[in-house]
Amino acid sequence: MGIFMRERLVNIIRKWLWRQIDLGSFDNQKAILIFALSVSCRAVILASVSSLATLPLLYGLGFLTMPVDEAIKLTVAFSWLFGGAFSGALAFVAGLVIRDLTQSRAEFERLSRTDTLSGLANRRAFNDAFARVDDEASLAIIDIDRFKLINDRFGHHVGDMVIQEISAILRQVFGERNLVARLGGEEFGVILKGSVLAQRLALVERARNQVSAGRFLCDGVELSVTISAGVAEFLPDRRAEWVYARADKALYLAKADGRDRVLHEQSLGFAEEVAVDYHPDTPAVFDALTAKG
Ligand code: GH3
Ligand code: MG
Ligand code: MG
Repeated sequence: MGIFMRERLVNIIRKWLWRQIDLGSFDNQKAILIFALSVSCRAVILASVSSLATLPLLYGLGFLTMPVDEAIKLTVAFSWLFGGAFSGALAFVAGLVIRDLTQSRAEFERLSRTDTLSGLANRRAFNDAFARVDDEASLAIIDIDRFKLINDRFGHHVGDMVIQEISAILRQVFGERNLVARLGGEEFGVILKGSVLAQRLALVERARNQVSAGRFLCDGVELSVTISAGVAEFLPDRRAEWVYARADKALYLAKADGRDRVLHEQSLGFAEEVAVDYHPDTPAVFDALTAKG
């Protein structure tokens, strides 16, 4: 067999195997058994047809030492016995291996997109979702207020527990519909989808309120914690980094304004907009500003 043919065959097998993995069809024992049976049946049919096809040739050359009808029976019987049994067993083992691979691949994929401390989506998952937003949506960047003080006074492990407590509140308030991610340290990003702006803002406000109203018991220490948030809008003609910069600036102003508050980008004046948007790495932003005059 030529190298080209061999490569083609390997490619076809590889594609077929990946299709099986992608379809996730080996997620239970029954599916694997059905797969093994179907492979076994195909192998039997293939073995029978190819053996039967060689019979006339053997007969013509005088190699057949038994009557033709017996040879046919034997051929079919051996095809079932060896072809069927062996290929079925092999396919079953292959199915088990593929199932294990599928499961570890899914687990690896899940882990690579999850933040270990909070269990929320991590920055990688956030970046993917952020780049894919194509509808009306808001971005909220949320940051724990004076978090360094908590670390300094009570230790890093208490700080970690606070991050976990706040993550749980964010997960509960924003639900499955919106993506909540820990971007790093004590900073979170939320992509709020659907509904109208006022409702999305109300949700961020609810999260802030719930955090500031709560008392956290972390390793025997009772704590009051607050968060601040900056919110900006995804718009059809807006680059993603612009949205991020605006939310970040709104957060910065919420901090400067005394913390424990949610600030929407609408509260930023034009002077702020220029200060936020001018960045040499964002040519579209620069173009928009120079166009403004
Ligand atoms: P501000 O209100 O302005 O946000 O003040 P802050 O103290 O929260 O902000 P700052 O950025 O000064 O402090 C953040 C601290 O978070 C500094 C860093 O040591 C700490 N930190 C970063 N990642 C982690 C983490 O995973 N666990 C803990 N416990 N601390 C972390
Ligand atoms: Mg902070
Ligand atoms: Mg921070």
